[in-house]
Amino acid sequence: MKRLAFAYHPDYLLHAPPFEHPESPERLLAIVERLRTAGLLDRLIPVTPDYAAEEDILAVHGREYLEKLESACRRGDLTLDAEDTYLNRHSYNVALLSAGGAVAGSKAVAEGAADRAFCAIRPPGHHAGREAGMGFCLMNNVAVAAKYLQARHGVGKVFIVDWDVHHGNGTQSVFLEDPSVFFFSVHEHPTFLYPGTGRRWEIGKGKGEGTTLNAPMAPGAGDDEYRLTFEEMLTPAVERFRPEIILVSAGFDAHRDDPLADIQLSDEGFRFLTRRVAELSDAYCGGRMVAVLEGGYEIGSLTSCIEIHIRELLGE
Ligand SMILES: [Zn+2]
Repeated sequence: MKRLAFAYHPDYLLHAPPFEHPESPERLLAIVERLRTAGLLDRLIPVTPDYAAEEDILAVHGREYLEKLESACRRGDLTLDAEDTYLNRHSYNVALLSAGGAVAGSKAVAEGAADRAFCAIRPPGHHAGREAGMGFCLMNNVAVAAKYLQARHGVGKVFIVDWDVHHGNGTQSVFLEDPSVFFFSVHEHPTFLYPGTGRRWEIGKGKGEGTTLNAPMAPGAGDDEYRLTFEEMLTPAVERFRPEIILVSAGFDAHRDDPLADIQLSDEGFRFLTRRVAELSDAYCGGRMVAVLEGGYEIGSLTSCIEIHIRELLGE
C-alpha cells in the first residue's frame, strides 16, 4: 500500500465560466464526491495548497504575461485574448492556487510525507506557455512543479508523461531546450485536434534535442494502440533517461465517452496507463510520482477513471 497525498482546495471552484463551458467547477465537485462515496477520500493524505510563490511561477512564466493576466481578471474581462479561455475576477488567484496544488503534491513526495500524489486542481495547465495562456489553461501547473522540484529539492532529472488527449504544447515549449526535463506526450494527431502541434518530428532543440518525444495517435485509436505506445516509446525513454521523479499531466479526455476528441480509451485503458507509469516510477525513481489533473469533460467517465487512477496509485 502506497501513501498517497491528495492536493485539493475548495477555492478551485471560484474560477467559473461566465458562459456554458466544459471546463467547469462541477468537474472537481464530482471527483471529490466520487472519491468520498467510494470510501477512498479517507485513505488519502490531505494536502492543502497555498498560492504558488512568485519565484516558482516566474521560473516558468514571464512577468509581462502575469501582469496582463492579473489586470484582465481585475478589469472583469470574460476571456483571455478573446479566445476560448475564460476568466472571472478570481481566475488569477485560482491559477496561482492551482499551480500551488501541483507544488504542494510535489513537496509532499519530495519530503517523503507521501510516496505519490494526486493533485485535483483547476484551471488545467499544459497548454500555457511562457508568455501565453490558452486552451482553458492560465498557468502551467506541471511545469511549475518540475521547476520547483529542481530549484527547492535538488531534483536533477524530471520526466513528464502527458496523456491528456490534447498535445501539451505549453509544457513542451517550456522545456524544449532543457535536457534535464523529459517531456513525453501521447495525444490525438494534430491534424485532427487542438492545438495542432505534437508531431513526431518535434523532438526538442539545442541541448534539449532528444528529451521531447511525441506520440500522435490516429482518431479512433484506443487501448491497444496506447498499450503499444507505452511499451515501445515510453518505457525505453524512461529507461534511458533515468529520471528521479515522474510527473503526469493526467487528462481523462482521451476516454471514448469524452466529447472533445476522438480517442477511444476505456476505463481499463486508463488503469493500464496509470499502472505502467507507476511501475516505471517504482523501477527508476524510488516510486516517486505526482499526477496533476488536466482535462476530462464527461463527468461519468472522468469520475470513474479517476477512481481507478487513485486505486492504482494507492497500489490496491
Ligand atoms: Zn485535453
